[in-house]
Amino acid sequence: MRPIIFGVLLALAFAAFGRTIHAMVRAAGRGSSDPRPRLDQLPRRLASVLIYFFGQRKVAEEGPQHMTSKHHLFIFWGFLVITVGTGELLVSGLIPSFNFGVILPEPAHIGLRTVIDLFNAVVLAMIGWALFRRIVIRPRLIPMNLDAGVILGAIGALMVTHFLFHGFSGAAALAAGHEVEPGAPVSGMVARWLSPLDAGAAATGAAAAFWLHTGVLLTFLNYLPYSKHIHLLGALPNIFLRNLSARKLDMPKLDLEDENQWGVGRFEQLSWKSLVDTYACTECARCSNYCPAYNTGKNLSPMQLIHDIRYEMTDRDALAAERESLQARRDAVAGHDREEIEQRLVDLEARIEAMPPMVGGRIADETLWACTTCGACQEVCPVFIEHPLKIIQMRQNLVLAQERVPAELGRAFRNIERQSNPWGISNEKRMDWADGLEVPTIETNPAPEYILWVGCAGAFDSRIIKQTRAMVKLLEAAGVNYAVLGHMEACTGDPARRAGNEMLFQMQAEANIETLNGTGVTKVVTSCPHCLHTLRQDYPQFGGNYDVVHHTQLLARLVAEGKLVPEKRVATRVTYHDSCYLGRWNGEFEAPRAILAGMDLPRGLAEPARNKKHGFCCGAGGARMFMEEEPPRVNENRTDELLATGADAIAVACPFCNIMITDGVKARDADERVTVRDVSELLADSLPDVPLSSLTRRPSA
Ligand code: SF4
Ligand code: SF4
Repeated sequence: MRPIIFGVLLALAFAAFGRTIHAMVRAAGRGSSDPRPRLDQLPRRLASVLIYFFGQRKVAEEGPQHMTSKHHLFIFWGFLVITVGTGELLVSGLIPSFNFGVILPEPAHIGLRTVIDLFNAVVLAMIGWALFRRIVIRPRLIPMNLDAGVILGAIGALMVTHFLFHGFSGAAALAAGHEVEPGAPVSGMVARWLSPLDAGAAATGAAAAFWLHTGVLLTFLNYLPYSKHIHLLGALPNIFLRNLSARKLDMPKLDLEDENQWGVGRFEQLSWKSLVDTYACTECARCSNYCPAYNTGKNLSPMQLIHDIRYEMTDRDALAAERESLQARRDAVAGHDREEIEQRLVDLEARIEAMPPMVGGRIADETLWACTTCGACQEVCPVFIEHPLKIIQMRQNLVLAQERVPAELGRAFRNIERQSNPWGISNEKRMDWADGLEVPTIETNPAPEYILWVGCAGAFDSRIIKQTRAMVKLLEAAGVNYAVLGHMEACTGDPARRAGNEMLFQMQAEANIETLNGTGVTKVVTSCPHCLHTLRQDYPQFGGNYDVVHHTQLLARLVAEGKLVPEKRVATRVTYHDSCYLGRWNGEFEAPRAILAGMDLPRGLAEPARNKKHGFCCGAGGARMFMEEEPPRVNENRTDELLATGADAIAVACPFCNIMITDGVKARDADERVTVRDVSELLADSLPDVPLSSLTRRPSA
């Protein structure tokens, strides 16, 4: 009878599981089409699965601050191995004589049993550690709750019942005068411990352990999609389907004629791949732990945001499925039955109507505005969830469809519209930064190698103007053939795009592309990573294709070629603050460091605790530069870390970082002892003293 009862149970459990999977696929399928290729580059995609799913590289490579979560690796790998043993047990439920010994040679069978048995022990130990961590250590965002208790308890129960099943089976063999099967050292110990039992009691124990084990397993299988372990189903496909393009902040071009493309206000407006993302979340909280907004107490946890999208999707999908089912039944009946279904449909529509909207309801405006689009969350996510893109798309809905923006951001938008810069300073003053210098413009030098893209901060902010002039000094000293666009340059539209104002961004992009294309110059150098990102990664969508480099990339090359030779000491110890848009989004971590490493710094270059791809934002990205921020502020948090290095100069490579960290140093009353300088300013100061005006003096025609 056992195989039959077991077969029925197995079929019921897998049918219920299949139904749930169908609902998951149906829900994600309600998303919009995805603009990116997802099935190209198959070898790379398969390698990704091997490295990031089976290899768990992102978890394995984490820094010491995440040592206490390394047990996930062992639980995961252990689970993979144990699944093989589980398969054997399930088949043996249907065919009692089955075990791997039937299909494997004896040594391989013993080896496999040993590995499975030892991994069971390792996973059991890791479950103990996970419980201790949640109950005693209590990391932020990893609470002990019912779901965690059920999951850890179920996994623990699977391990214990494995040992009991094999232990009782071994004890039964001993009672019958046989030896315990070789391999499986832990189960063998349990068998010897249970050996006083007679054969009947041991066989009953083994049967009980079998039913307990398979019962827990099949219940776990069906509980899984409703728990945090839903990622066991979502992670692998999500890694396989990940964005492989070089554009890591891969914003689609919106067709603004189509109102349905005015951002994401409903879950169905997210692409199906963005919805699959939400099934993959492991609830590891790495994204929130690295998030500058979360770390400074703002109402934004990227992990919670992903969960909120999933809850929104599953809740609304269930209602939509109910509606579809009622509609189908209504169409199939007539008379009283039809009227009854009509009434149920009316009630259902009223319930759907009464639900708060996703954006502005389940996900608050302030959550979306708190994001600096720094990309730290996306960088650390072990399953390649793209949080910033979703946040920007929901901002687009706030700006374009709901017309709801913070007042100060609305001012910045108007300033860009009217004066082509977010500060609203008259565009007539765009070249005032060059007063007293003969800086070549595209009119005076129509065939330069490089356009020097000055940027709005570089042209209008008094602090950053000094950096622009330092850059001019370096270009002149190195003999680079360059020109600026002067009054023809306009805001790239970066703050507009990152804040969701796609309409304004597209206007800026089209105007700038027309100007740039009109010059015929294809090489652009800029000191602003936000301009760099927009010119390099966004403009190609609109027909602007340029070879854009950051000033530190060009300067590092000029230093390496001996065209710029740092001579004078400008600081004793320097620390470098990574710009998110230069580093994480555009992959440049080394050029600024290479320039600094070539300078005379007796106390060296000191790294802050969070650096390179795990660097901590200054707080200005994503148009946060133009929004108010409640303390504690992101820039002050970052400044504390930079000051802790003991450096007497903080080097930056971005005008926004420069402004934010300068403010942070002032807020900490450290501006007397520590200077904040762009890498180019430090390099320019290290050159021999030559007045800038004489460097830029052109021979008269
Ligand atoms: S992009 Fe940065 S600020 Fe935004 S959610 Fe991610 S980590 Fe937080
Ligand atoms: S979104 Fe990614 S990093 Fe954040 S909790 Fe989920 S799996 Fe972890």
